[in-house]
Amino acid sequence: MSTQTDPVDLFVIGGGINGCGIARDAVGRGYSVTVAEMNDLASATSSASTKLFHGGLRYLEYFEFRLVREALIEREILLTAMPHISWPMRFVLPYHKDMRFDSETPTSRLLTFFMPWLKGKRPAWLIRFGLFLYDTLGGRKFLPGTSTVDLRNSELGKPLKKYLQKAFEYSDCWVEDARLVLLNARDAQARGATIMVRSKVIAAEHKDDLWHVTIRTDTGETKTIAAKMLVNAGGPWVEDIIKNTVHLKTNEGVRLVRGSHIVTRKLFDHDKCYFFQGQDGRIVFAIPYEGDYTLIGTTDAEHNDLTEKPTCTVEEQEYLLKFTNKYFEQEITKDDIVWTYSGVRPLYDDGASSATAATRDYVLRINTSGGGPVLNVFGGKITTYRRLAESALEMIDETLGATTKIWTARVPLPGGDFPVNGVENLKNALQSQLPFFDAKTIQRLVRQYGTEATDIFEDATSLADLGEDFGNSITARELDWAVSREWVKCAEDFLWRRTKLGLRVSDKDAAQIDDYLTMQLSKS
Ligand SMILES: Cc1cc2nc3c(=O)[nH]c(=O)nc-3n(C[C@H](O)[C@H](O)[C@H](O)COP(=O)(O)OP(=O)(O)OC[C@H]3O[C@@H](n4cnc5c(N)ncnc54)[C@H](O)[C@@H]3O)c2cc1C
Repeated sequence: MSTQTDPVDLFVIGGGINGCGIARDAVGRGYSVTVAEMNDLASATSSASTKLFHGGLRYLEYFEFRLVREALIEREILLTAMPHISWPMRFVLPYHKDMRFDSETPTSRLLTFFMPWLKGKRPAWLIRFGLFLYDTLGGRKFLPGTSTVDLRNSELGKPLKKYLQKAFEYSDCWVEDARLVLLNARDAQARGATIMVRSKVIAAEHKDDLWHVTIRTDTGETKTIAAKMLVNAGGPWVEDIIKNTVHLKTNEGVRLVRGSHIVTRKLFDHDKCYFFQGQDGRIVFAIPYEGDYTLIGTTDAEHNDLTEKPTCTVEEQEYLLKFTNKYFEQEITKDDIVWTYSGVRPLYDDGASSATAATRDYVLRINTSGGGPVLNVFGGKITTYRRLAESALEMIDETLGATTKIWTARVPLPGGDFPVNGVENLKNALQSQLPFFDAKTIQRLVRQYGTEATDIFEDATSLADLGEDFGNSITARELDWAVSREWVKCAEDFLWRRTKLGLRVSDKDAAQIDDYLTMQLSKS
C-alpha cells in the first residue's frame, strides 16, 4: 500500500457528470482536487441518459418550477460552451384528446378538483400553456419558441398514424452525455486535478484533522490519499458510500429508479424528435440517433439491487414498442431493436409516492458525523450539472473558509472554442485538412472532438499516415489519442462511451481494437 503525503483540499468519489463537474469547477478556483472513479468515466448513469439538455416539460406538472427554470436557462449557456457535443433540437408533441396525466401529479389533482369533467385528460389549452411557460421561464436568446403544426400537411406527420392531426413544436437540446463527462474530466486535469479511473474508494477514515481515503485499483493495488474534505458524488451508490464506506449518520438516501432505452433502425427521415404522451400519463421520446437509428425511451422501474447491472428487460422493451406503435404508422417489432441500454436515476428520497413523482431536483448536504466534512450529492440532471457544481462550491467555500468566484459559465470545454453556429465552417476546414476522409467521418470527428480534431490528425496527408486502420474510420492515430488523453483502457470504453461506434463495429474489429489498446497500454 502506498500513501500520498500532501493532502488535497477535495477528494471526489465518482467520475460521473456530478463528480467531474464539481472537480473542474473546484480546481479552476484554486482548490487541489483528486477524483476516483471505480470503473470508466461515465460508466454508470451519466452515459445512460436520454441525452437531453432540457428543462423537463413534464416537471411543470409537478410544480418543479425552480428546477425547470434553472435547467431552461442552462441550455443556452451549455450549448455555447460545447457546440461540438451539443446542439439545438426541435421536439414535436402530437396532440390527441385521450392524453392523460399521471394521476399523482399536483396539476392532475388540482384539475380533478376544479374541473372534474376532464377526467384526468390533458387538454390542448393546458399543454399550450405549459409550453408558453417553457418558452418564457428560461429567458431564451437563440432557441426558437413554440409553434403549432398541422400534421396533415407536414413532413412531420408522415411517419405518424393518421388520427394524429395536430402537434406542438418546441425547443430543447441534445448532448453527448458520456463525452460531456470526459471533457469535464479533461479540463479539470488540464487545470491541475488528478483523475484516477478504475480506482474504487473502499474506505475513508477521519483522523488528525484529515480524511484518509483508501483506494483499490483494478490491478488490486491499494493506496491512501489524505484530503481536507470529501465529495460523495457516487450517483446510485451515494447512499452505499454514506453507509458502508464513510460510515456517516443520516436518514437521507436515494430512491433508485431504472430508465431504459431501445435503439432501433431509423424510423423517420427528418432531424426532429417526437415527444409522445401516453394514456398512462408517461411520456416517451423518439429521437434521431447517430445518423442511422432512432432512440426510444424511457421507462420508470424500481431498481433496488445495485449489484445487478441495469439492463432493459424484455417487459421494458415490449412496453416501449407498444407505446411507440400507438403513434407510428409502420409497426416496429423487437427485430427492429439493434441495441438497448439502461441507467439508474439516483433520486433524492423525499418520500414521494411513486417513482415518476420523486423529485428530479438535486439536493446537496454537508455531513460531519464522520469527524470531517463530506458533501453528499443526491439526484441531479445532466442539464443542471454546472449549476449543481456552483452550489456545491458555495458549500465547499463555506466549509473550508475560502472565498472563490464562479467562472464556468462562459468557458468552453476542450474542443468547444468556436461559435454555436460554427459547425459547418469547422467541417469544411477539417475536410480540407483531411481530404481522404468522407463527409460522414468528418461530421463524426467534428462532433466528437470539435477544434481538437485538427490537433489529433495534425500532419496527416493520407490515411496511411494514421497507422493501422480498424475499419469504420477508426485509425491507430485516434486510438492513441483516446489512450493518452481520454483514459481509454479497452475497446468498450472507446466504442460505447467516447464514441457510439459500437453500433457499427463488428465483434472481430472490436477484438482487434482491444488487442491494439492492450499493446499500447502495456508500453505506458
Ligand atoms: C434513463 C435516464 C435518462 C435520463 N435522461 C436525462 C436527460 O435527458 N437529461 C438530463 O439532464 N438528465 C437525465 N438523466 C439524469 C442524469 O443522467 C443523472 O442525473 C446524472 O447522470 C447523474 O450523474 P452522477 O454523476 O450523479 O451519477 P453517475 O453518472 O452514476 O456517477 C457516479 C459514479 O460514481 C462511481 N462510484 C460509485 N461508487 C464509487 C466508489 N466507491 N469509488 C469510486 N467510484 C465510485 C460510479 O462508478 C459512477 O461512475 C437521466 C437519467 C436516467 C437514468
